[in-house]
Amino acid sequence: MNYQQVIEKTYTKVLAEKNLGSLANYIPELSKIDSKKFGVHISTTDNKEFYTGDSSEKFSIQSVVKVFSLIMAYRLLGRNTWDRVGVEPSGTAFNSLVQLEADKGKPRNPFINSGALVICDMLISNLQNPKQEFLNFINTVSHNSDIQFSQKIISSEKLVGFRNIALCNYIKSYGNIENSPEEVLDLYFTICSIEMSCQELSRASLFLANNGRTLATQEQILNSSQTKRINAIMQTCGFYDESGEFSFKVGLPGKSGVGGGIIAIHPSKYSIAVWSPKLNAKGNSYRGMKFLEQLTTQLQSSIF
Ligand code: GLN
Repeated sequence: MNYQQVIEKTYTKVLAEKNLGSLANYIPELSKIDSKKFGVHISTTDNKEFYTGDSSEKFSIQSVVKVFSLIMAYRLLGRNTWDRVGVEPSGTAFNSLVQLEADKGKPRNPFINSGALVICDMLISNLQNPKQEFLNFINTVSHNSDIQFSQKIISSEKLVGFRNIALCNYIKSYGNIENSPEEVLDLYFTICSIEMSCQELSRASLFLANNGRTLATQEQILNSSQTKRINAIMQTCGFYDESGEFSFKVGLPGKSGVGGGIIAIHPSKYSIAVWSPKLNAKGNSYRGMKFLEQLTTQLQSSIF
């Protein structure tokens, strides 16, 4: 299959269609992004790369980072991770509070904000310098030291982070946050602000398509059973209350963020990152979803 030809053809087709949706206006700094940006990068397990559009431009990866923070916590805590955060799709919005009362402060999964906050708490309890160690980890999986947090995005999100502040305090009231909510929120906003290009994101997530082993350095990040589990959670929870729709249309495990980025994994074949900043009503990239749907149709390759 000629990946380059297929991505270019699909890219041109999606580009010619309407660019619906809106920017993540609730974070002021994200509302300034050029909504016409559109990039794609595929990295394959046989060490090839294919890309088009704005694939080397950095953007705010936002909730895509929740895959990497989960993996860090999972490496530290193993199966104990699941004592404090579940693995069930929530069927609710990424920033929803509603299930937490019935579930006594245990978030449904690590990819909604509540779950990611608990994961940040685990990192704080178990690491000396979680921010630096987080960057080191991203550096290891992507084999790239040019990846940083954005102070502008952190400050912008802190100014309007009332919902996340409420979530963190609410979980704390059930005893499922060990550290101070301020410290947990600071780490959460910081990791969400990380800026990466499609090229960097696709390379950084390639180990998830390669049984947990990085291609560049052959480092085993997760064992193959743990890798399957992370992919399973991406499949069932990666797109909040649109996770079923993404499975239905794209047929790959994936994760989105309100910066308009999406990563998707085809186990044993490739990892792909797509970026287009306009979001649909569920907070997932409008063009990103379209592109991936058409791509897996063209490639006739989904995991099903
Ligand atoms: N930082 C964003 C928030 O907490 C992340 C949300 C997302 O990308 N879905 O609101």
